[in-house]
Amino acid sequence: MITKNILPCFKTNMKKVTKYILHPQRSYREFKTFMTAKDKCFIPNCKARCCADAPLPEDFAPQYKQMQQRPVYGAANIGHNDPRDNYNSVIYNTRPVPLILVGHAGRGEHVYIKDKKLAKELGIKTMEEAKELLLEMQAKEIYNYCPFLTEQGRCRVYGMRPPICREFGSSPLPINYCPHKSSNLDIVKFYFKKAFNLKDMYYLYRDLITSKFSKQVTQG
Ligand code: SF4
Ligand code: SF4
Repeated sequence: MITKNILPCFKTNMKKVTKYILHPQRSYREFKTFMTAKDKCFIPNCKARCCADAPLPEDFAPQYKQMQQRPVYGAANIGHNDPRDNYNSVIYNTRPVPLILVGHAGRGEHVYIKDKKLAKELGIKTMEEAKELLLEMQAKEIYNYCPFLTEQGRCRVYGMRPPICREFGSSPLPINYCPHKSSNLDIVKFYFKKAFNLKDMYYLYRDLITSKFSKQVTQG
């Protein structure tokens, strides 16, 4: 897995960087921007969290109900998510946690609404208990993924996905700003760290030795 995925990615990235440095017209400032601009969707770093807590147009999920990939425990109608919208949006809850993230307050604080029906079903009485459950899920990296996201991280309704999904992370509007984007430097650092991780090294050597050994056996 490591020889197949990590090494080729690392090589491609280093090739791009080298090409950039050797370009006669490039200055250090341009190189710095090239390396540090956070404009890449690098899935190993972000785990595609744009598909979590997604505000979908209110008639979207009912229309494609048969394509849903995960159970829905509740939903919150948040009204117009974008000032340009002429429809309301709904955030679905796909985790058995009676809290739904509906926005952000000042200083990056999260705003949740409590799903009273689900809280009652789960026997959760206080907000503290609900938050504890939420933290447990987050520690296990279980996010409130969109009902249409498959286990493999693919959008089951990709061709029909709503405007928010098409624009998020790729438009200059603050509402579509993605805080999970990576820079080229982040990507290089990611692979560099991987290359010196003891566990990864073990699998890398094991893969190399096994493939060499199996080649000898086939030739012999
Ligand atoms: S838009 Fe953001 S969250 Fe979505 S894939 Fe790109 S980096 Fe990840
Ligand atoms: S509809 Fe598709 S692209 Fe949009 S949030 Fe859901 S899974 Fe992601």
